[in-house]
Amino acid sequence: MNGLEISPFIASLPKVELHIHIEGTLTPALRWKLAHRNNIPLPYATYEELVDSYNVTYNHRREVNGDNGAPTFLEAYFAGCQVLCTEDDFYELAMAYLEKAREMNVRYVEPFFDTQAHTRRGVPAETVLNGYLRAQRDGAERFGVPSNWIFCFLRDEPLEDGLKAYRAALPWARTKDGRGKGLFHAVGLASNEYNRPPGLFEEAFLLSKEDGLHLTMHCDVDQKDAAEHMHEAIFDICAGTGTDRIDHGLNALDRMDLIQGLKSRGIGLTLCPHAYHRRQATEVLFPKIRRLWDEGVKFCINSDDPTYMHNVWIDGNMMKVHEYCQFTKRDMAKLVQNAVEMSWADEDIKKEILRELESTICQN
Ligand SMILES: [Zn+2]
Repeated sequence: MNGLEISPFIASLPKVELHIHIEGTLTPALRWKLAHRNNIPLPYATYEELVDSYNVTYNHRREVNGDNGAPTFLEAYFAGCQVLCTEDDFYELAMAYLEKAREMNVRYVEPFFDTQAHTRRGVPAETVLNGYLRAQRDGAERFGVPSNWIFCFLRDEPLEDGLKAYRAALPWARTKDGRGKGLFHAVGLASNEYNRPPGLFEEAFLLSKEDGLHLTMHCDVDQKDAAEHMHEAIFDICAGTGTDRIDHGLNALDRMDLIQGLKSRGIGLTLCPHAYHRRQATEVLFPKIRRLWDEGVKFCINSDDPTYMHNVWIDGNMMKVHEYCQFTKRDMAKLVQNAVEMSWADEDIKKEILRELESTICQN
């Protein structure tokens, strides 16, 4: 956090997290424990070495940034996944996150997950899905953090594999026929977007829309063809109806037609400031976020993969924009309100968070 402390105001704000990858919450402590429980060898001799490996700023994308000898972010992330083997492992991962969420006053969360990163290692999809389903129920009961999950297609894998994974996971969805188990209510598009525009997954998007699911997709910052990918996401996919939400999407600032499209179609961005702050200077990044705000683009503040991003969680991300974008306390409340409105939570949950938000603001 570069010496920036989380203020009591930011700590006390009720929060909504819409952009967090559950595997990106795997702490070194849990990874160490699961590696030993499952006899998975780690390339670190001691726990301290493992912890140290999380302190680096990974090479974001070798295809874009060149090879500086550091592992890429995705290599580090998928290496962490190796220790997740049994239903209990996935359950513990999710419960540890939901407990942490409660400590940060997160009132509702829509975590991303995928099955492909695990089935390709030989873990059955139902092992993953049942672990998260149990955590969804117990996390709401024990920690008071309700969650609706987002199934992600890995965009650097073939469409056919994604469709197969989706069909296998569908019995765990919250589909419009009401027959699913209720774990996930949306689909997303994640992993490496190099030369993988969202349009490649059109068939998958149409299918999930038909099943009554919401749709979001990553348009990561400063990637190759970032503006073109955003244009597709806003205007072209789903037979021209566009996506419901975009993850990241800071490159909307590159082109006025993207700003206009986001506004006219009511598409919100789930920003993760610290993820960009790792690669951009304070005086470059935060004025951009401020400009999006001044342009009237709707966005909210999230954390992405906190354990692989210097342990900066949603509260740290909110503190950064509070400080560096000079957002007032009222502005910060508006960012939470945006998250509530952009979420696909049930109406009673939304109302309760807005009521709490109002009373927090009145006390500040
Ligand atoms: Zn992400």
